[in-house]
Amino acid sequence: MSSITAISSFALIAALAAAGPQAQAQSAPPEATEQAAGDTDAAQATDDDPQERSLSSKAAEAAGKAAEKASEITGAVVDKVKAAVDKARADTGITDAETDQPSSAVAPSNAEIQRQTQPATNAGSAKITKPDDAAGAVATPVSAMAQGAPTKREWSRLKGVSEAVAADYKANLESLFVHFHENPELSFRESKTANRLASELKALGYEVTQGVGQTGLVAVMRNGDGPTVMMRADMDGLPVEEKSGLAYASKAMQEDIDGEMKPVMHACGHDVHITSLVGAARQMATRKNDWKGTLVLIGQPAEERISGAKAMLDDGLYSRFPKPDYAIAFHVAADLPAGKIEVNDSLVSSSSDSVNITVRGIGAHGAGPHKGVDPILVASHIVVALQSIVSRSINPLEPGVITVGSFHGGFKHNIISDKVDLQLTVRSNNPKVRDQLIAGIERTAEGIARGLGVPENLLPIVEYGFESTPTTINDTPTAKLVRSAFVDKFGADGLVNPPAEGMGAEDFAYFVQPETGVRGVYFAVGGTPEDELANAAGHHSGLFKVWPEPAVKVGTEAMTTAAMKLFATPPASLGASGQ
Ligand SMILES: [Zn+2]
Ligand SMILES: [Zn+2]
Repeated sequence: MSSITAISSFALIAALAAAGPQAQAQSAPPEATEQAAGDTDAAQATDDDPQERSLSSKAAEAAGKAAEKASEITGAVVDKVKAAVDKARADTGITDAETDQPSSAVAPSNAEIQRQTQPATNAGSAKITKPDDAAGAVATPVSAMAQGAPTKREWSRLKGVSEAVAADYKANLESLFVHFHENPELSFRESKTANRLASELKALGYEVTQGVGQTGLVAVMRNGDGPTVMMRADMDGLPVEEKSGLAYASKAMQEDIDGEMKPVMHACGHDVHITSLVGAARQMATRKNDWKGTLVLIGQPAEERISGAKAMLDDGLYSRFPKPDYAIAFHVAADLPAGKIEVNDSLVSSSSDSVNITVRGIGAHGAGPHKGVDPILVASHIVVALQSIVSRSINPLEPGVITVGSFHGGFKHNIISDKVDLQLTVRSNNPKVRDQLIAGIERTAEGIARGLGVPENLLPIVEYGFESTPTTINDTPTAKLVRSAFVDKFGADGLVNPPAEGMGAEDFAYFVQPETGVRGVYFAVGGTPEDELANAAGHHSGLFKVWPEPAVKVGTEAMTTAAMKLFATPPASLGASGQ
């Protein structure tokens, strides 16, 4: 029995050793893992791996200290914060009714305001207030957390829309963000989120249709002749247990579409997106004299399963509703400085294909391996050989990734099983490379299995196409136009242009594929204060958190600014699409 164990162990060890950097990344601490995995661009391009990363002891220690400190001051400042929020409402003259809170049923009660305002006093809370805000002046941790937020000089540039958004943030968006964060829902299970979005948007005068692509939502505002602009926000959370330490951390559990109960967390920041969509919807609705055309807002389900965009299109998004000339969206980025914007001219994110390989063998006693065909050995060789596809089969100047993220097989020490399930993610930036990688996986799996004696009728089954997205590519002329509008609005130093890292994916791609004729711009908005960036948890981590202020404000202003610019620009005036 021991010798058989050694054989299986040897195959696995050999596989892990050959995998090299992957194996190292798996055993590295979270900070190193983030870098090794290239997940730093999860913001501009989300990853679809819902695995929660382990707690960093350093981060946990820091969070613990922060929570301790915060709890000391919480009691003293809660009342002041509430008073400040009330004062801010009074100062701006904004009441729930005037800001079109859909109903008293959804407007926060005083008790809710107190509960929701409480996090503002917690270090480690994302509920930040700027130092020059009334509420922010009451507690040192609050102003400390605002480091990395735009400076007063930067804020002074944001006239008009900025002031209105700031007032809306205090009156509505901050509590709406907390509501969404506390109540995340899994992919294709975003019913309550969609209902809340619907009530917010109906109250603003939009025609709302729900159930588009299962839980998706479409809201339309027709405002005369002009371009049609679509704003997209993705709605889903992830099956991750929240360990952020935030006072409003999610405790939600939900059954996923496979029927399994899972903890749920907005661990990718989609709560920032939907809150900003409501913010932008309000700005556009109150500025109808400033634009002409048709505005389409969508709440997209299941981005994390890279399935929701396609589901909405398959359900008639571009035939039952006004087809857009332009489509815009953004992702909050934990790895970008808070409130800074990144707009790429062309490639935004890679293609992604989930691939399943079912390696079949013939079961036997572990002491008599010659009487069976060991699928664990076969699968181990396949895993190793897959890593030669990128290095030997594609143009070395083209990037590609094949990651085996799951390897499940076997039952017990002394049993040779008859099946191993492998789950892969495959990334590329070029359709030709994408095809080469998939073909290489099929060829390799089959060839290795044959070589190790798997009978013809039990060769591996390779499946793909069930979770996949093409590359997301911005329309270059439109991206340049939107960037220039952002520079006008936020100043040149409001934008950043970090080098690309990793091969994240995003199913916004489907909305702007060349055959649709829709010009797309997908950008990123930073969510972490500059001095926190080095220790920021990655997207999809239980420790993930972004600072909604300024991310929600800047997201709202940026979407509004981009839409205004696009309504003023006939698509034909931009010439040929730059894709
Ligand atoms: Zn994500
Ligand atoms: Zn995301």
